[in-house]
Amino acid sequence: MFRHTIPIGRIFGIPIDLDYSWFLIAVLLTWLLAVNYYPVEFKGGTSAEYWLMGAVTAVLFFGSIVVHELAHSLVAIRFKIPVRRITLFIFGGVSQIAAEPPNASAEFQIAVVGPLTSFALAALFYFLEPLFGNFTPALAVAKYLALINGILGLFNLVPGFPLDGGRVFRAIVWGVNKNFRRATLIAANSGRFFGFLFIFVGVWQALRGNVINGLWTAFIGWFLESAAVAQVQQQMVQGLMVGHKVSAVMGDACIHVPGDISLQKLVDQEVLAHGRRCFLVDRGDRVVGLLTLHNLKEIPRPSWTTTSAAQAMVPIEKLSSIDPSAELWTAMEKMGRDGINQMPVMRGNNLVGMLSRGDIVKYLQTLQQVGT
Ligand SMILES: [Zn+2]
Repeated sequence: MFRHTIPIGRIFGIPIDLDYSWFLIAVLLTWLLAVNYYPVEFKGGTSAEYWLMGAVTAVLFFGSIVVHELAHSLVAIRFKIPVRRITLFIFGGVSQIAAEPPNASAEFQIAVVGPLTSFALAALFYFLEPLFGNFTPALAVAKYLALINGILGLFNLVPGFPLDGGRVFRAIVWGVNKNFRRATLIAANSGRFFGFLFIFVGVWQALRGNVINGLWTAFIGWFLESAAVAQVQQQMVQGLMVGHKVSAVMGDACIHVPGDISLQKLVDQEVLAHGRRCFLVDRGDRVVGLLTLHNLKEIPRPSWTTTSAAQAMVPIEKLSSIDPSAELWTAMEKMGRDGINQMPVMRGNNLVGMLSRGDIVKYLQTLQQVGT
């Protein structure tokens, strides 16, 4: 997958990434603080001081967001849910938590710790202020950070998915009605409502002359609304898949080829002649790996005559596979997580078929058409 991020390090083993869009907001925030905020809050400084304060504030603010996200991640890890990474982007931060929480109480704790952390940071900066009593630039920065972390905590409590408050809300509904899917739909629709509300308030602010704040609020509303819609759609797809097993969707296993066949021969005889897209590579009577068109394309064309299937394949022990009785949804999640388009379906050590994203899409279309 194409990534627009720059890795900046690891904390507690969790990679922290900067999305390119982050630079936009970092520059914008520094500029707003240096030109609009600090000259009013802290009179008598030089322009260089204001810019420096603006930049320091922006960095510490995003440091605060990392702490907020780390809090989510550490609680998730406590519930044995792996955390892939934390990404800072234009709207703040996001923790990529690899799976849905196991129960409502876990979801509640993972979500609520975020705003609580922001409030704790606000209190921390507030109580730091007296330390800077004689050094007004630091005092002004601490004041702003106390304020902004407080606002961040409050904003995140808004009960619309995907905000933390929306997750808290979902956890409560889930705890009451014991239906994760319905709870998610309710919280996501509430997220859409708040998204529209923010857009409305933002446009109204902008029309009244508060253009930058107004546009920003509207922009956040638009982001919330689209994230909530994506969640609703995902739930609908998931709902469509409920009860359907991998075995109903999987295609025939790929054909077997000997490990020493050259890629060129494979392309000529099987790919072009029969349109086959995947091959099980045998050594003797044992399957040792899987070769897909995707693997093939990674080898430069001039080397096809000299490269064997065994050299280009992915060894069987490195493949993630799925059981034919697994839920389709589980398979789809697994493919998404591993970034693959197809995977072998194995019963024990026996390969019984292949499941591809294409198969799933076709199956879903059919399901939708027959309306089950
Ligand atoms: Zn959060």
